Amino acid sequence: MKPVLVIGGGISGVTTAVEIAEVGKEVILIEKEPYFGGNVVKFNNYFPKLCPPTCGLEINFRRIKQNSKIKYFTSTEVQEISGEKGDFKVKIKTAPQYVKNNCTSCGKCIEVCPEERPSDFNYGFTKTKAIYLPHEMAFPYKFNIDDEYCKKELCNKCVEVCEYNAIDLSAKKEFAELEVSSIVVSTGWKNYDASKIENLNYLTSKNIITNVEFERFIASNGVGENKLLRLSDNSEPKKIAFVQCAGSRDENHLPYCSAVCCSASLKHALTIQELYPESEIKIFYIDMRVVGRNEDFLVKVQNNKNIELVKGKVGKINETENNNLILEAEDILSGRKIIYEAEMVVLATGIVPSDLGLDLLKESNGFHNIDQKYGIYVAGCGKKPMDVSASVKDATAVALKAIQIN
Ligand SMILES: Cc1cc2nc3c(=O)[nH]c(=O)nc-3n(C[C@H](O)[C@H](O)[C@H](O)COP(=O)(O)OP(=O)(O)OC[C@H]3O[C@@H](n4cnc5c(N)ncnc54)[C@H](O)[C@@H]3O)c2cc1C
Repeated sequence: MKPVLVIGGGISGVTTAVEIAEVGKEVILIEKEPYFGGNVVKFNNYFPKLCPPTCGLEINFRRIKQNSKIKYFTSTEVQEISGEKGDFKVKIKTAPQYVKNNCTSCGKCIEVCPEERPSDFNYGFTKTKAIYLPHEMAFPYKFNIDDEYCKKELCNKCVEVCEYNAIDLSAKKEFAELEVSSIVVSTGWKNYDASKIENLNYLTSKNIITNVEFERFIASNGVGENKLLRLSDNSEPKKIAFVQCAGSRDENHLPYCSAVCCSASLKHALTIQELYPESEIKIFYIDMRVVGRNEDFLVKVQNNKNIELVKGKVGKINETENNNLILEAEDILSGRKIIYEAEMVVLATGIVPSDLGLDLLKESNGFHNIDQKYGIYVAGCGKKPMDVSASVKDATAVALKAIQIN
């Protein structure tokens, strides 16, 4: 029996892979980044329980490690899919594996590495060495080398210091062809490009950040190391504004609702209040869309005297000389125009589907929605915006569909 291929190792892909393997079927899981976990692993915490993101993921990573039915590849992407349901041929490409699996992550290579690169994990707001551990809880727990910044044999310092002979700077890209019975696309999402929303001036101020960047700003292992800091002057902002539907439900940008941004901003506001109880927070929204257990957040926010929910769309943000931000909005409930000066602004930008880069899988709005008869299934946020709990349920349902094809 041929294995199932799962493309994308976020919470959805990882869930599909373990569910398939645990009913005894072979599965191949590929991920384009050097680590699994997708967007969730970059969060500070996640609703509804506000536990660290690694909570749910760690268990799944253990399930992967313990199950010989799962073969997994990181830094790997699909180049071509041919064939049909029950008999697909898939060409894959793996980036050079300069660091071998016998790396113990002792960190001596980092000490001697002279080159720096912007940390993609922190959206470029911090730096790592050219040889780096993607993050403290990374799975696989293995160092990685950034091709663009490493001087390879011209430097060679990491090779010289490695006692385990775990670095091979001559490693090349690897190609393989897989034969699989069905395919699960779980390539998830990326954040909408905030620079496209010109009136919100994201690019003109360092103190306007997006919601995903905020996760890394507030995380204890993130940009401010457990402090919320403004990039312009390293000060701790005490007046913070959230702009909901930044580009969402807007025909000029994303016509749809991303389903999770309201809950995410409520989570962010409560996290700031915990860290800085004296802070003043305003959340500008069109409609507050929170369902299920996340309604608890809404009630908590409504009861918090330092957080104000303002029903009104922000039309303009301008920066002052001292790098504060002036927001202009109409308070729909009072019918009055509001001018508010904040020290930091967080744009709740929406979810855009990741592009697998294969024509076969494109649909309207960019989300994948493949008819099952082709033997290609979509799990999680690649299908539509959804939270982790819905992604896990969807991924489990998709696993059931995928194993029915031999
Ligand atoms: C600001 C914000 C905060 C949020 N907070 C919460 C929260 O607190 N609680 C909650 O329940 N939900 C939250 N969400 C929603 C949550 O992020 C999603 O439910 C979750 O990420 C869905 O997981 P996924 O695996 O479908 O997609 P992703 O997390 O996007 O994972 C997709 C994976 O596929 C990989 N991939 C992409 N393209 C390819 C390719 N071509 N080849 C191979 N691999 C590829 C990616 O690298 C990634 O690892 C939040 C969303 C936002 C925007």
